[in-house]
Amino acid sequence: MASVLVVEDDQFVRSALIRHLTELPTDPHTVRSVGTALEALREVAHFRFDVVILDLGLPDLDGAEALKMLRGITDVPVIIATARDDEAEIVRLLNDGADDYLIKPFSVEHLSARISAVLRRSRAGAGESPPDRVLRVGGLTVDPLRRQAELDGARLDLTRREFDLLAFLAGRPGVVVARKELLAEVWQQSYGDDQTIDVHLSWLRRKLGETAARPRYLHTLRGVGVKLEPPR
Ligand code: CA
Repeated sequence: MASVLVVEDDQFVRSALIRHLTELPTDPHTVRSVGTALEALREVAHFRFDVVILDLGLPDLDGAEALKMLRGITDVPVIIATARDDEAEIVRLLNDGADDYLIKPFSVEHLSARISAVLRRSRAGAGESPPDRVLRVGGLTVDPLRRQAELDGARLDLTRREFDLLAFLAGRPGVVVARKELLAEVWQQSYGDDQTIDVHLSWLRRKLGETAARPRYLHTLRGVGVKLEPPR
């Protein structure tokens, strides 16, 4: 269970989100909601939240402005919800401190997956060790202990590095992982060129039966990083 702040000015979207998030059968969240950026700032100043869902199209402040002001007072994870499928703006907001994003309209399942991923990451950052359990993302199964991976029931023949890369991303489904972080965590290097990562990603992609142009699980966000998520 998490404590969620929904910042959304559209009444219908807002009440649908609240209903779904509070009535999740497995893991209901507690939700507070506001309709403006200034109210959101007041909320985070007074209450502790695990995650904030921030609509970019608010009546009082521009989304980027709202994010900047939020970041000025709290480091709570922020998931941006935007109707604009504008890669440049999303990249900018991720660089400005947003943790993840969703393009409207999105499904409740998608939103809860993002919330869980963001929470896992912020809790892992707080010192909890990553789990050795079997990871499942859509039809993909990754068993870190046995070092085996399957796609739709068929065993994947992966090199050590490909497996490490896949396991690392599968542990953070839906979360954009920066190339620098991949280098540090998978390659244990503090420097290196992007080509190393690109090459391994393209091999991994081929084994997953997809291409960069038609991604299913592996999505590259130019200039930012890569994420793994179940196909829509
Ligand atoms: Ca709006």
